[in-house]
Amino acid sequence: MKTNRSQSLAPASGAPFNPLGPMVVHAKNAYDYVVHSFERRITGALVLILVGMIGLQVVSQQRVLELRAQTGSYRESMAQFDQVRRLGDAVTRFRLSGIALVAPASEADALLKRDQLTDAAIAIANGINEIRAVDDQSYRAVSGLPVFARLDGMVAELLNPQPGQPLAPAARGRLERFNAKLEGGVQSIDQAVTGQRDRAFDSLNAAVDSWNVMIGLAGVLTIALAAAICFDLLRNILPALRRMHDALRQLANGELDVEIEQSRLHELNELSQALETFRQHAHAVRGLAYADPATGMPNRRAFVQRLVAMQAGKGVDTACDRFVVILADVDRFKYVNDDYGHPAGDQLVGLIGARMGMLLGPQAFVARLGGDEFAVCRPLADGESAARLASDLVAAMREPFDLGHCQIAVTLSLGHVTAARSDDARMAEPSTETELLLRADLALYASKHGGRNCATGFTAEHLAEHEIERALERDLCEAFDRGELRMVYQPIHAVGGEPDEVEALVRWTHPRHGEVPPSRFIPAAERSGLMVPLGRWIYERALSELRGWPGLQMSINLSPLQLQQEGFVGQFLDCCRRNAIDPHRLYLEVTESVSIERNPRAVLTLELLRQSGCRIALDDFGTGYSSLSLLRTFQFDRLKLDRALIGNLATDPTSRAVFDAAVTMALRIGAEVVAEGISEAELVEPVRAAGCTHLQGYHYSRPVEADQVAVYYGNIMRKLASA
Ligand code: C2E
Ligand code: MG
Ligand code: MG
Repeated sequence: MKTNRSQSLAPASGAPFNPLGPMVVHAKNAYDYVVHSFERRITGALVLILVGMIGLQVVSQQRVLELRAQTGSYRESMAQFDQVRRLGDAVTRFRLSGIALVAPASEADALLKRDQLTDAAIAIANGINEIRAVDDQSYRAVSGLPVFARLDGMVAELLNPQPGQPLAPAARGRLERFNAKLEGGVQSIDQAVTGQRDRAFDSLNAAVDSWNVMIGLAGVLTIALAAAICFDLLRNILPALRRMHDALRQLANGELDVEIEQSRLHELNELSQALETFRQHAHAVRGLAYADPATGMPNRRAFVQRLVAMQAGKGVDTACDRFVVILADVDRFKYVNDDYGHPAGDQLVGLIGARMGMLLGPQAFVARLGGDEFAVCRPLADGESAARLASDLVAAMREPFDLGHCQIAVTLSLGHVTAARSDDARMAEPSTETELLLRADLALYASKHGGRNCATGFTAEHLAEHEIERALERDLCEAFDRGELRMVYQPIHAVGGEPDEVEALVRWTHPRHGEVPPSRFIPAAERSGLMVPLGRWIYERALSELRGWPGLQMSINLSPLQLQQEGFVGQFLDCCRRNAIDPHRLYLEVTESVSIERNPRAVLTLELLRQSGCRIALDDFGTGYSSLSLLRTFQFDRLKLDRALIGNLATDPTSRAVFDAAVTMALRIGAEVVAEGISEAELVEPVRAAGCTHLQGYHYSRPVEADQVAVYYGNIMRKLASA
């Protein structure tokens, strides 16, 4: 049993069992608990000081009482000392009176001496009683005291002979012995009292000394503890706090690679842990600030930083003194998101970025600027062509991307610009990173307008064009007030002959640039937020002029932005009412260039306009992307086939087949079909034959000024009448 028990208590390691072990562990834990906390350290030290003070106070009280007692006994022993001295005087007087009575000079002298003897004996008896009254015990301990008990007997013997008669020799001898004993008794009392007084004095002295020592020790202990606190503060805590403060200041300055030290002190450790957490979060936030969260690719900020560094020649191959900046857009990326979902869109963007990086090599910095926009900067080796690099990139993107669950093929539009890295070259061709990005963007814009899926290098014309565009945007605001805008009307002929119709087209005569085509300033208005007021001006002017042409129908072009404008339907119908125009006389043309299909508000606006009597035409059909699915979403009253479908109709059988199919489809869904851009006589027959219900183009008439509309239709009437 015993063995088992000792085995069970023995530590697992097999080390001998130490019964003090658990206590030691507890003591160590308590020590750690106090020592590893600044607060507990200080509190512990203050508690120690407090306990020490209280202890000192208690002990001091005791010592005061003791001291008071010691002083009392010292005072008593001093009083006894006086009594002994008085007793000694009385004994002396007794002895002298006794000697005088041995042979008195006369009877009168004998009587006097008797009185004196009696007084001295009484004084001795009183003295003894006083001494006994103060300390009977000590008195009894004194040797030689029995002599005082015999005092009465001796007095009686001395007073026995008649006054004037000498004392018998035997009595004389007894008196002398008695006196000697009396003095011996007084001496022993004196010794005892003196010894007692000395002891009282010594113990009083000792009490004062020990109190002194105790007060001194308590003072030293308090000072030591206070010094320990100060030392701890100066040696451990303040330097640690200073280091923490330094780390905090570095973090505040954005130096996130600072090392935050651990501390043994619980509070400082908590602070350092909080700082470390803050540092890690700041790292993550900085990461987010420079990376695209969806793909992890560098973002615009990171790209601009890299571009600036590249311009300064940092972090790149110093042998290259030119570099290219590329901006690229995935063509119609919106449809990828719509059709496959945003996660697939992000995955595709990541794959595109990775493929770009692979193709362009490790020197290239590929960033995602947002959505489907990419930016690249890369040094160009001697003789390396940026145009070649860019077209290779466009070609490489045509290969489908494997997303795991599906494959997606996309195309890329790209703009690029080259810049010099050397200072000399930069002096000749100054370009900040903003200018470089603008130039690449203009080249990208040209790619998009050049049919997409291609790369365009920046040229000076792009910049000139851009500056004109900006100027147009600025000047358009004032064009209304300055009367620079006007409407022109292009006739649309119904194949069946009736009714007459015109399409309202806006014109802007710029004071410097002359006639600015709407294909240029309408996009400028859309970009600058002026499209809504411009659109309003257009339909108000067109409807007020239509008021003067009864019997004429009118097509008005609407921008997709107008379709999204709140209250547009009400404003438009109100304008019709004011001009007494029946909405049935109106066709409202919308283009498919911007997706209406995926914009519920635009579709609702069209529905409301249609219900109010307006007819809705899909303009430029055949140039867009989503025409066919759009036709399922909304019931159009008319399709206007773009002139791109008509151009080669007379000569190219394939164009004709496509055109025929488009017309048949439009007719099958019950819509009218307008053939736009009939610029030559030989196009008339094929479009008629295909079944178009309406014809429009320069062959019939260019757009005419408002005052020529009535003239135009008057002439037609006259022609028909004369025919
Ligand atoms: P759109 O609505 O398709 O207008 C027809 C465009 O084709 C007009 O150009 C017209 O002049 C042109 N055109 C007509 N027949 C022929 C032809 O036989 N040959 C050639 N080459 N062109 C022909 P315009 O006036 O320059 O307008 C261009 C585009 O600007 C319009 O295309 C329309 O999308 C937009 N636009 C014009 N006016 C307005 C407007 O008042 N509001 C809105 N929102 N857009 C307008
Ligand atoms: Mg139109
Ligand atoms: Mg058109």
